[in-house]
Amino acid sequence: MRSLKSSHFSLWLSRSTPLAPAMAASSLLRSLTRHARGASAYRHLPWSPFSTTTAAAAGARDEARKGFPGLGPTAKGEKARVVVLGTGWAGSRLMKDLDTSGYDVVCVAPRNHMVFTPLLASTCVGTLEFRSVAEPLARIQPAVSKSPGSYFFLARCTGVDPDAHTIDCETVTDGEKDTLEPWKFKVAYDKLVFASGAEASTFGIKGVTEHAIFLREVHHAQEIRRRLLLNLMLSDVPGLSEEEKRRLLHCVVVGGGPTGVEFSGELSDFIMRDVKQRYSHVKDYIHVTLIEANEILSSFDVRLRQYATNQLIKDWCR
Ligand SMILES: Cc1cc2nc3c(=O)[nH]c(=O)nc-3n(C[C@H](O)[C@H](O)[C@H](O)COP(=O)(O)OP(=O)(O)OC[C@H]3O[C@@H](n4cnc5c(N)ncnc54)[C@H](O)[C@@H]3O)c2cc1C
Repeated sequence: MRSLKSSHFSLWLSRSTPLAPAMAASSLLRSLTRHARGASAYRHLPWSPFSTTTAAAAGARDEARKGFPGLGPTAKGEKARVVVLGTGWAGSRLMKDLDTSGYDVVCVAPRNHMVFTPLLASTCVGTLEFRSVAEPLARIQPAVSKSPGSYFFLARCTGVDPDAHTIDCETVTDGEKDTLEPWKFKVAYDKLVFASGAEASTFGIKGVTEHAIFLREVHHAQEIRRRLLLNLMLSDVPGLSEEEKRRLLHCVVVGGGPTGVEFSGELSDFIMRDVKQRYSHVKDYIHVTLIEANEILSSFDVRLRQYATNQLIKDWCR
């Protein structure tokens, strides 16, 4: 795959999966709610040195907590702490209805908002605004910004110690490396929920990570929109060969699953609706190519596949 810098435009899409994570989160939530209702006893961690109530023990506990490089273990009489990794569909669903009278919630994730992924493709071409598809965690679960024992930490979990009931974390300081070095800390948990999703798959194809843009996060959609508009404007500036214009305005979408097809459709609509009117000098140079190794929308009904294919071809997609 060629370098794209300010040249043509390519997008890499991983296959989307059903919203099963949010459903699994609902079931976990039911079990946590049952547990919280049996409120009399918050579970004591078997390993915890902090389970006696004597003054000496309390003093020792405070001392030990002081030395803990992060959020130390909960003590007897305190709410149990649910640590959730991730602010995606699963994590957000779980935190939304978590009974915060029975639990403190601590969320660790490299982004502070949930992304409504089904609408992400529409933001790439301006049909929807970015803020319409991102919901801040503090609005989903206000306790993380208000309750004394609940927090959101902008960090990545880098390791889990199930014996010690702790996780290792490293802050996310993307783009601020010059002024702020990332630092490490630990969080002790009573319950740990993994909702950190899955890595985007490149199917082992070289160059994808360096040269293409994934479509999973709001900043991906922003980058796609930025590059699309930049290339449209650059191709209108005098001094460019015909070939170079075609290259700048060739949009390649890799992956013919629901996301790839939806994005290609959005792009085609954008070309027919906006480009033809607002960039009419270059309208004949822009093309969309959708690449799929098998059939597009392979998990869908044959009639739907045929309809989608016909529609895309009709709408200038190759
Ligand atoms: C463009 C697009 C459109 C889609 N459309 C649909 C659709 O229409 N219908 C459908 O059913 N599905 C759709 N999907 C799939 C759906 O979005 C996923 O199945 C769903 O997001 C998975 O939820 P999740 O909570 O497991 O993971 P995610 O939503 O991916 O969330 C993972 C979370 O974990 C965080 N995280 C990552 N690493 C760490 C770490 N080390 N420590 C802490 N936190 C971490 C991430 O920042 C994120 O907050 C679509 C996906 C995309 C990309």
